[in-house]
Amino acid sequence: MENKVIRVTIWNEFVHERSEDYVREIYPNGMHAVIADALSECSDLKVRLASLDEPEQGLPDAILEETDVLMWWGHVAHGQVSDELVEKIRQRVYAGKLGFFPVHSGHHSKPFRAILGTTGNLTWGDEQKEIIWNLCPSHPIAAGIPDHFVLEKEEMYGEPFYIPTPDELIFGGWFEQGNIMRSCCTWRRGAGKIVYFQPGHESCRAFYDPYVRRILQNAVHWVAPADFGYKIPGGCIHQPGAVN
Ligand code: ZN
Repeated sequence: MENKVIRVTIWNEFVHERSEDYVREIYPNGMHAVIADALSECSDLKVRLASLDEPEQGLPDAILEETDVLMWWGHVAHGQVSDELVEKIRQRVYAGKLGFFPVHSGHHSKPFRAILGTTGNLTWGDEQKEIIWNLCPSHPIAAGIPDHFVLEKEEMYGEPFYIPTPDELIFGGWFEQGNIMRSCCTWRRGAGKIVYFQPGHESCRAFYDPYVRRILQNAVHWVAPADFGYKIPGGCIHQPGAVN
């Protein structure tokens, strides 16, 4: 069986990298460019970059329709994302047409909150050492990841993390000052899938870490829509041509 190409759009608000020198030094072309570089190691991923300042906030219908997996990095500009766009994303996820994969501060993004129906609030604090523990080694998102790995510096994100109980908990984060975090969780909603992964603060270097990069690759493959091809109740068709 040949691997199907997965079309990934990495959406980034792309604000910190332009407004703060210390972020630009780490991510000169944007965090989405470094994530794209990580994904480029997989020949079955076709990656596109999108950002808030582009026409239709980077996600016109034509791009959404050509996207199987939507990655999301946002922080200071969550409120600028239009409700209309959020609703389109939510409906595409529920219809099983789009996998949604927010990272780091995407826990507060409008699509994440809308899809899961919760605040996504959590506790946060200083940058410090994080140990990421592999809680579900048999899961495809954990493929190639050891029992734990260390990020020398990452912004502390900790519990309580106000999310619906995840279907699966893949990684747990331990922070040097004592906090813990459900750092990689999955959910299914409607016919679609969602995965969240916590590292990726703009002034840290998580997206250069080889294990983080492997997890990004794994998670994109996991969250891609299933290859069903029948009509989903509600009138959505995943694979045009397969049923008509
Ligand atoms: Zn952050």
